Amino acid sequence: MRPTPTSRPDDRAGALLTVDLAALVENWRLLKRQVPDPACNVGAVVKADAYGLGAEPVAKALKEAGCTTFFVAHLDEGVTVRAAVGDGPRVVVMHGPNKGTERDFAAYRLVPVLNSPAQIDRWRTFAATNDVLMESLVHVDTGMSRLGLTAREFEELMLDPDGFVGLHPLALMSHLSCAEETKNPMNGEQLLKFTSALATFRGKFPDAKGSFTNSSGIFLGAPYHFQFARPGVALYGANPLEAKPNPMIPVVRLRGKILQVRRVDAAAPVGYGATYTAQDGAKLATVSIGYADGLLRSFSNRGHGYIDDIKVPVAGRVSMDLTIFDVSAVPDSGLGPDATIEIIGTHRTVDDVAAEAGTISYEVLTSLGARYSRSYVSAPRK
Ligand SMILES: *Cc1c(COP(=O)(O)O)cnc(C)c1O
Repeated sequence: MRPTPTSRPDDRAGALLTVDLAALVENWRLLKRQVPDPACNVGAVVKADAYGLGAEPVAKALKEAGCTTFFVAHLDEGVTVRAAVGDGPRVVVMHGPNKGTERDFAAYRLVPVLNSPAQIDRWRTFAATNDVLMESLVHVDTGMSRLGLTAREFEELMLDPDGFVGLHPLALMSHLSCAEETKNPMNGEQLLKFTSALATFRGKFPDAKGSFTNSSGIFLGAPYHFQFARPGVALYGANPLEAKPNPMIPVVRLRGKILQVRRVDAAAPVGYGATYTAQDGAKLATVSIGYADGLLRSFSNRGHGYIDDIKVPVAGRVSMDLTIFDVSAVPDSGLGPDATIEIIGTHRTVDDVAAEAGTISYEVLTSLGARYSRSYVSAPRK
Protein backbone atom coordinates (compact mmCIF):
# COMPACT_ATOMS: atom_id res chain seq x y z
CA MET A 1 0.00 0.00 0.00
CA ARG A 2 1.24 3.44 -0.90
CA PRO A 3 1.56 5.82 1.98
CA THR A 4 -0.80 8.79 1.80
CA PRO A 5 0.94 12.15 1.73
CA THR A 6 1.53 13.54 5.19
CA SER A 7 1.88 17.18 4.20
CA ARG A 8 -1.12 19.50 4.62
CA PRO A 9 -3.56 19.69 1.68
CA ASP A 10 -3.10 23.47 1.75
CA ASP A 11 0.63 22.94 1.24
CA ARG A 12 0.19 20.40 -1.54
CA ALA A 13 -2.44 22.18 -3.62
CA GLY A 14 -1.69 24.85 -6.20
CA ALA A 15 -4.55 27.05 -5.16
CA LEU A 16 -6.74 27.58 -2.13
CA LEU A 17 -10.51 27.83 -2.26
CA THR A 18 -12.35 29.11 0.79
CA VAL A 19 -16.12 28.91 1.05
CA ASP A 20 -17.70 31.10 3.69
CA LEU A 21 -20.75 29.16 4.89
CA ALA A 22 -21.77 31.96 7.25
CA ALA A 23 -21.94 34.35 4.29
CA LEU A 24 -23.93 31.75 2.36
CA VAL A 25 -26.48 31.52 5.17
CA GLU A 26 -26.56 35.30 5.43
CA ASN A 27 -27.36 35.49 1.71
CA TRP A 28 -30.20 33.01 2.11
CA ARG A 29 -31.61 35.14 4.93
CA LEU A 30 -31.24 38.26 2.82
CA LEU A 31 -33.25 36.62 0.04
CA LYS A 32 -35.89 35.57 2.58
CA ARG A 33 -36.18 39.18 3.70
CA GLN A 34 -37.01 40.15 0.12
CA VAL A 35 -40.04 37.88 0.35
CA PRO A 36 -42.52 39.43 2.76
CA ASP A 37 -45.15 36.68 2.49
CA PRO A 38 -44.42 34.11 5.21
CA ALA A 39 -46.36 31.55 3.14
CA CYS A 40 -43.64 31.68 0.50
CA ASN A 41 -41.01 29.03 1.10
CA VAL A 42 -37.57 30.25 0.03
CA GLY A 43 -35.60 27.17 -0.92
CA ALA A 44 -32.09 26.73 -2.27
CA VAL A 45 -30.90 25.50 -5.65
CA VAL A 46 -27.87 23.30 -5.01
CA LYS A 47 -27.53 21.69 -8.45
CA ALA A 48 -24.12 21.21 -10.08
CA ASP A 49 -22.52 20.54 -6.69
CA ALA A 50 -24.02 23.77 -5.31
CA TYR A 51 -22.65 25.77 -8.24
CA GLY A 52 -19.24 24.25 -7.71
CA LEU A 53 -18.98 25.04 -3.99
CA GLY A 54 -19.85 21.59 -2.62
CA ALA A 55 -23.46 20.37 -2.35
CA GLU A 56 -22.94 18.57 0.95
CA PRO A 57 -21.52 21.35 3.12
CA VAL A 58 -23.72 23.95 1.43
CA ALA A 59 -26.96 21.98 1.88
CA LYS A 60 -26.05 21.11 5.47
CA ALA A 61 -25.36 24.73 6.39
CA LEU A 62 -28.62 25.92 4.82
CA LYS A 63 -30.60 23.15 6.44
CA GLU A 64 -29.22 24.12 9.83
CA ALA A 65 -30.27 27.70 9.11
CA GLY A 66 -33.84 26.52 8.51
CA CYS A 67 -34.02 25.91 4.75
CA THR A 68 -36.55 23.16 4.08
CA THR A 69 -36.59 22.87 0.28
CA PHE A 70 -33.65 22.00 -1.95
CA PHE A 71 -33.59 21.87 -5.73
CA VAL A 72 -31.15 19.84 -7.82
CA ALA A 73 -31.02 18.98 -11.52
CA HIS A 74 -30.17 15.26 -11.47
CA LEU A 75 -31.29 12.24 -9.50
CA ASP A 76 -27.73 11.54 -8.31
CA GLU A 77 -27.49 15.09 -6.99
CA GLY A 78 -30.72 14.46 -5.13
CA VAL A 79 -29.27 11.32 -3.54
CA THR A 80 -26.24 13.32 -2.37
CA VAL A 81 -28.37 16.11 -0.95
CA ARG A 82 -30.75 13.69 0.74
CA ALA A 83 -27.77 12.12 2.55
CA ALA A 84 -26.52 15.56 3.56
CA VAL A 85 -29.77 16.99 4.92
CA GLY A 86 -31.44 13.90 6.36
CA ASP A 87 -35.11 12.99 6.07
CA GLY A 88 -36.79 16.29 6.90
CA PRO A 89 -36.32 18.64 3.95
CA ARG A 90 -37.97 18.32 0.58
CA VAL A 91 -35.53 17.58 -2.25
CA VAL A 92 -36.81 18.41 -5.73
CA VAL A 93 -35.17 16.94 -8.85
CA MET A 94 -35.76 19.40 -11.68
CA HIS A 95 -34.90 17.12 -14.59
CA GLY A 96 -37.56 14.68 -13.48
CA PRO A 97 -37.64 10.89 -13.71
CA ASN A 98 -35.67 9.24 -16.50
CA LYS A 99 -36.83 5.83 -17.63
CA GLY A 100 -36.10 3.21 -14.97
CA THR A 101 -35.34 5.66 -12.16
CA GLU A 102 -38.80 5.91 -10.58
CA ARG A 103 -37.97 3.51 -7.75
CA ASP A 104 -35.00 5.60 -6.68
CA PHE A 105 -37.17 8.69 -6.48
CA ALA A 106 -39.41 6.80 -4.09
CA ALA A 107 -36.56 5.24 -2.11
CA TYR A 108 -34.83 8.59 -1.49
CA ARG A 109 -38.10 10.51 -1.25
CA LEU A 110 -37.10 12.80 -4.07
CA VAL A 111 -39.80 14.99 -5.58
CA PRO A 112 -39.67 14.92 -9.38
CA VAL A 113 -40.46 17.83 -11.61
CA LEU A 114 -42.58 16.46 -14.45
CA ASN A 115 -41.44 18.33 -17.53
CA SER A 116 -43.09 16.53 -20.44
CA PRO A 117 -46.12 14.37 -21.24
CA ALA A 118 -43.73 11.39 -21.27
CA GLN A 119 -42.54 12.12 -17.72
CA ILE A 120 -46.09 12.65 -16.53
CA ASP A 121 -47.06 9.34 -18.06
CA ARG A 122 -44.07 7.60 -16.50
CA TRP A 123 -44.77 8.96 -13.05
CA ARG A 124 -48.48 8.24 -13.31
CA THR A 125 -47.79 4.64 -14.27
CA PHE A 126 -45.37 4.25 -11.41
CA ALA A 127 -47.78 5.78 -8.91
CA ALA A 128 -50.63 3.58 -10.13
CA THR A 129 -48.68 0.32 -10.14
CA ASN A 130 -47.07 0.95 -6.79
CA ASP A 131 -50.01 2.44 -5.00
CA VAL A 132 -48.02 5.46 -3.89
CA LEU A 133 -49.20 9.03 -3.93
CA MET A 134 -45.87 10.64 -4.50
CA GLU A 135 -45.58 14.40 -4.64
CA SER A 136 -44.45 16.04 -7.84
CA LEU A 137 -44.14 19.45 -9.46
CA VAL A 138 -45.52 20.03 -12.92
CA HIS A 139 -43.46 22.32 -15.14
CA VAL A 140 -45.16 24.50 -17.72
CA ASP A 141 -43.11 26.55 -20.13
CA THR A 142 -44.05 30.22 -20.25
CA GLY A 143 -41.47 31.58 -22.65
CA MET A 144 -38.17 29.76 -22.56
CA SER A 145 -38.74 26.76 -24.85
CA ARG A 146 -36.34 24.74 -22.77
CA LEU A 147 -38.09 22.43 -20.33
CA GLY A 148 -41.72 22.04 -19.36
CA LEU A 149 -45.02 21.40 -21.05
CA THR A 150 -45.85 23.63 -23.99
CA ALA A 151 -49.00 25.73 -23.65
CA ARG A 152 -50.78 23.28 -25.95
CA GLU A 153 -49.62 20.20 -24.03
CA PHE A 154 -50.69 21.80 -20.78
CA GLU A 155 -54.12 22.64 -22.17
CA GLU A 156 -54.64 19.14 -23.52
CA LEU A 157 -53.64 17.54 -20.26
CA MET A 158 -55.96 19.83 -18.34
CA LEU A 159 -58.88 18.94 -20.63
CA ASP A 160 -58.16 15.21 -20.48
CA PRO A 161 -60.07 13.79 -17.51
CA ASP A 162 -57.37 11.12 -17.17
CA GLY A 163 -54.53 13.57 -17.78
CA PHE A 164 -53.27 13.68 -14.22
CA VAL A 165 -55.07 10.69 -12.78
CA GLY A 166 -53.24 9.27 -9.78
CA LEU A 167 -50.97 12.27 -9.49
CA HIS A 168 -50.71 14.49 -6.50
CA PRO A 169 -48.92 17.62 -7.73
CA LEU A 170 -47.59 19.81 -5.02
CA ALA A 171 -47.04 22.78 -7.30
CA LEU A 172 -46.98 24.15 -10.80
CA MET A 173 -43.65 25.66 -11.76
CA SER A 174 -42.16 27.74 -14.54
CA HIS A 175 -38.85 29.50 -15.13
CA LEU A 176 -38.08 33.11 -16.04
CA SER A 177 -35.76 33.74 -18.98
CA CYS A 178 -34.84 37.42 -18.39
CA ALA A 179 -35.32 37.96 -14.66
CA GLU A 180 -32.04 39.86 -14.14
CA GLU A 181 -33.26 42.53 -16.59
CA THR A 182 -35.91 44.18 -14.44
CA LYS A 183 -37.32 46.21 -17.34
CA ASN A 184 -37.54 43.36 -19.82
CA PRO A 185 -41.19 42.90 -20.90
CA MET A 186 -40.62 39.13 -20.98
CA ASN A 187 -40.96 39.13 -17.19
CA GLY A 188 -44.49 40.51 -17.20
CA GLU A 189 -45.50 38.33 -20.13
CA GLN A 190 -44.27 35.19 -18.41
CA LEU A 191 -45.95 36.23 -15.17
CA LEU A 192 -49.27 36.64 -16.95
CA LYS A 193 -49.00 33.23 -18.61
CA PHE A 194 -47.99 31.57 -15.37
CA THR A 195 -50.75 33.19 -13.33
CA SER A 196 -53.31 32.03 -15.84
CA ALA A 197 -51.88 28.49 -16.02
CA LEU A 198 -51.84 28.28 -12.23
CA ALA A 199 -55.49 29.35 -12.03
CA THR A 200 -56.41 26.60 -14.51
CA PHE A 201 -54.28 24.10 -12.59
CA ARG A 202 -55.99 24.99 -9.34
CA GLY A 203 -59.33 24.20 -10.99
CA LYS A 204 -58.18 20.61 -10.77
CA PHE A 205 -55.81 20.79 -7.80
CA PRO A 206 -57.13 23.51 -5.47
CA ASP A 207 -54.18 23.19 -3.08
CA ALA A 208 -51.50 23.43 -5.77
CA LYS A 209 -48.78 25.93 -5.05
CA GLY A 210 -46.79 27.99 -7.53
CA SER A 211 -43.01 28.09 -8.03
CA PHE A 212 -41.71 30.73 -10.39
CA THR A 213 -38.66 32.72 -9.36
CA ASN A 214 -34.93 32.18 -9.42
CA SER A 215 -32.56 34.56 -7.59
CA SER A 216 -33.17 37.55 -9.83
CA GLY A 217 -36.92 36.97 -9.96
CA ILE A 218 -37.13 37.44 -6.19
CA PHE A 219 -36.10 41.07 -6.70
CA LEU A 220 -38.88 41.62 -9.25
CA GLY A 221 -41.27 41.86 -6.30
CA ALA A 222 -44.08 40.06 -4.53
CA PRO A 223 -46.22 39.15 -7.58
CA TYR A 224 -43.38 36.90 -8.73
CA HIS A 225 -42.91 35.03 -5.47
CA PHE A 226 -45.80 32.53 -5.29
CA GLN A 227 -45.19 29.75 -2.73
CA PHE A 228 -41.81 28.24 -3.58
CA ALA A 229 -38.84 30.42 -4.55
CA ARG A 230 -35.84 28.76 -6.17
CA PRO A 231 -32.78 30.99 -5.72
CA GLY A 232 -29.39 29.63 -6.71
CA VAL A 233 -26.60 31.92 -7.82
CA ALA A 234 -27.30 34.77 -5.38
CA LEU A 235 -26.78 32.40 -2.45
CA TYR A 236 -23.22 31.98 -3.68
CA GLY A 237 -22.57 35.71 -3.76
CA ALA A 238 -23.14 36.59 -7.41
CA ASN A 239 -25.09 39.71 -8.27
CA PRO A 240 -28.71 38.91 -9.14
CA LEU A 241 -29.30 42.48 -10.32
CA GLU A 242 -28.02 43.61 -13.66
CA ALA A 243 -26.58 47.14 -13.56
CA LYS A 244 -27.17 47.64 -9.83
CA PRO A 245 -24.86 47.21 -6.84
CA ASN A 246 -24.67 43.68 -5.54
CA PRO A 247 -26.75 43.20 -2.38
CA MET A 248 -25.21 39.77 -1.72
CA ILE A 249 -22.16 38.96 0.43
CA PRO A 250 -19.13 37.30 -1.19
CA VAL A 251 -18.92 33.60 -0.36
CA VAL A 252 -15.93 32.45 -2.41
CA ARG A 253 -12.28 33.26 -2.05
CA LEU A 254 -9.75 31.79 -4.47
CA ARG A 255 -6.02 32.30 -4.18
CA GLY A 256 -3.38 30.87 -6.48
CA LYS A 257 0.12 30.13 -5.23
CA ILE A 258 3.10 31.74 -6.85
CA LEU A 259 5.48 28.96 -7.88
CA GLN A 260 8.20 31.15 -9.28
CA VAL A 261 9.02 34.83 -9.73
CA ARG A 262 11.37 35.95 -12.47
CA ARG A 263 12.82 39.28 -13.41
CA VAL A 264 12.98 39.74 -17.16
CA ASP A 265 16.47 40.88 -18.22
CA ALA A 266 15.54 41.89 -21.74
CA ALA A 267 12.11 42.18 -23.35
CA ALA A 268 10.80 38.61 -23.48
CA PRO A 269 7.86 36.68 -24.93
CA VAL A 270 5.52 35.14 -22.38
CA GLY A 271 3.58 31.88 -22.51
CA TYR A 272 2.18 29.73 -25.33
CA GLY A 273 1.92 31.51 -28.64
CA ALA A 274 4.16 34.32 -27.35
CA THR A 275 1.11 36.59 -27.20
CA TYR A 276 2.52 38.93 -24.53
CA THR A 277 5.85 40.67 -24.29
CA ALA A 278 7.29 41.44 -20.88
CA GLN A 279 9.33 44.64 -20.83
CA ASP A 280 12.95 44.82 -19.81
CA GLY A 281 13.03 44.77 -15.99
CA ALA A 282 9.48 43.45 -15.61
CA LYS A 283 8.67 40.92 -12.91
CA LEU A 284 6.57 37.88 -13.75
CA ALA A 285 4.90 35.50 -11.30
CA THR A 286 3.94 32.01 -12.43
CA VAL A 287 0.92 30.77 -10.52
CA SER A 288 -0.14 27.13 -10.20
CA ILE A 289 -3.65 27.49 -11.50
CA GLY A 290 -4.84 27.03 -15.06
CA TYR A 291 -7.80 26.21 -17.22
CA ALA A 292 -7.84 22.65 -15.87
CA ASP A 293 -8.75 24.33 -12.57
CA GLY A 294 -11.53 26.36 -14.13
CA LEU A 295 -9.54 29.52 -14.73
CA LEU A 296 -11.11 30.03 -18.12
CA ARG A 297 -8.72 30.36 -21.04
CA SER A 298 -10.56 33.50 -22.11
CA PHE A 299 -8.85 35.12 -19.09
CA SER A 300 -5.67 35.14 -21.23
CA ASN A 301 -4.22 38.66 -21.57
CA ARG A 302 -7.48 40.08 -20.12
CA GLY A 303 -7.87 38.87 -16.56
CA HIS A 304 -6.48 40.32 -13.35
CA GLY A 305 -5.62 39.22 -9.88
CA TYR A 306 -4.61 41.04 -6.73
CA ILE A 307 -1.58 40.85 -4.49
CA ASP A 308 -2.60 42.72 -1.38
CA ASP A 309 -4.08 45.92 -2.83
CA ILE A 310 -2.17 45.84 -6.09
CA LYS A 311 -3.94 44.82 -9.28
CA VAL A 312 -1.84 42.52 -11.46
CA PRO A 313 -2.67 41.58 -15.06
CA VAL A 314 -2.56 38.13 -16.62
CA ALA A 315 0.42 38.03 -18.98
CA GLY A 316 -0.07 35.83 -22.03
CA ARG A 317 -2.23 32.77 -22.32
CA VAL A 318 -3.64 30.78 -19.46
CA SER A 319 -2.23 27.28 -19.80
CA MET A 320 -3.61 24.05 -18.40
CA ASP A 321 -1.94 24.19 -15.00
CA LEU A 322 -0.20 27.55 -14.93
CA THR A 323 -0.95 31.22 -15.41
CA ILE A 324 1.60 34.01 -15.55
CA PHE A 325 0.90 37.43 -14.06
CA ASP A 326 2.88 40.61 -14.61
CA VAL A 327 3.72 41.61 -11.05
CA SER A 328 6.10 44.48 -11.86
CA ALA A 329 4.02 46.80 -9.66
CA VAL A 330 4.47 44.63 -6.57
CA PRO A 331 7.47 45.26 -4.29
CA ASP A 332 9.71 42.22 -3.73
CA SER A 333 8.54 42.10 -0.12
CA GLY A 334 5.07 41.16 -1.42
CA LEU A 335 6.44 38.24 -3.44
CA GLY A 336 7.84 36.03 -0.71
CA PRO A 337 7.64 32.24 -0.64
CA ASP A 338 4.09 32.23 0.78
CA ALA A 339 2.75 34.82 -1.64
CA THR A 340 -0.55 34.13 -3.36
CA ILE A 341 -2.52 35.98 -5.97
CA GLU A 342 -6.17 36.55 -5.19
CA ILE A 343 -8.26 35.51 -8.18
CA ILE A 344 -11.66 35.77 -6.48
CA GLY A 345 -12.11 37.56 -3.18
CA THR A 346 -12.61 40.92 -1.59
CA HIS A 347 -10.99 42.81 -4.49
CA ARG A 348 -12.33 40.58 -7.22
CA THR A 349 -15.93 39.47 -7.18
CA VAL A 350 -17.15 36.44 -9.07
CA ASP A 351 -18.91 38.91 -11.37
CA ASP A 352 -15.66 40.82 -12.08
CA VAL A 353 -13.93 37.60 -13.03
CA ALA A 354 -16.85 36.59 -15.23
CA ALA A 355 -16.86 39.95 -17.00
CA GLU A 356 -13.14 39.72 -17.73
CA ALA A 357 -13.46 36.17 -18.98
CA GLY A 358 -16.38 37.15 -21.20
CA THR A 359 -18.88 34.94 -19.42
CA ILE A 360 -21.33 34.90 -16.50
CA SER A 361 -20.79 34.26 -12.81
CA TYR A 362 -22.63 30.93 -13.12
CA GLU A 363 -19.93 29.58 -15.42
CA VAL A 364 -17.08 30.87 -13.27
CA LEU A 365 -18.57 29.18 -10.19
CA THR A 366 -19.48 25.87 -11.80
CA SER A 367 -16.00 25.70 -13.39
CA LEU A 368 -14.22 25.90 -10.02
CA GLY A 369 -11.72 23.09 -10.17
CA ALA A 370 -11.28 19.82 -8.37
CA ARG A 371 -7.60 20.38 -7.53
CA TYR A 372 -8.02 23.23 -5.08
CA SER A 373 -7.51 22.73 -1.40
CA ARG A 374 -10.98 23.58 -0.17
CA SER A 375 -11.82 24.93 3.21
CA TYR A 376 -15.19 25.73 4.64
CA VAL A 377 -15.39 28.41 7.26
CA SER A 378 -18.47 29.22 9.24
CA ALA A 379 -17.41 31.84 11.73
CA PRO A 380 -20.50 33.86 12.54
CA ARG A 381 -20.48 37.22 10.81
CA LYS A 382 -20.42 40.28 13.00
C1 LIG B 1 -30.82 26.89 -12.02
C2 LIG B 1 -32.26 27.12 -11.83
C3 LIG B 1 -32.71 27.98 -10.82
C4 LIG B 1 -31.78 28.87 -10.01
O1 LIG B 1 -31.47 30.00 -10.80
P1 LIG B 1 -30.49 31.18 -10.28
O2 LIG B 1 -30.53 32.13 -11.41
O3 LIG B 1 -29.17 30.56 -10.08
O4 LIG B 1 -31.08 31.71 -9.03
C5 LIG B 1 -34.07 28.05 -10.58
N1 LIG B 1 -34.94 27.32 -11.33
C6 LIG B 1 -34.54 26.53 -12.35
C7 LIG B 1 -35.55 25.79 -13.14
C8 LIG B 1 -33.19 26.41 -12.64
O5 LIG B 1 -32.79 25.63 -13.66
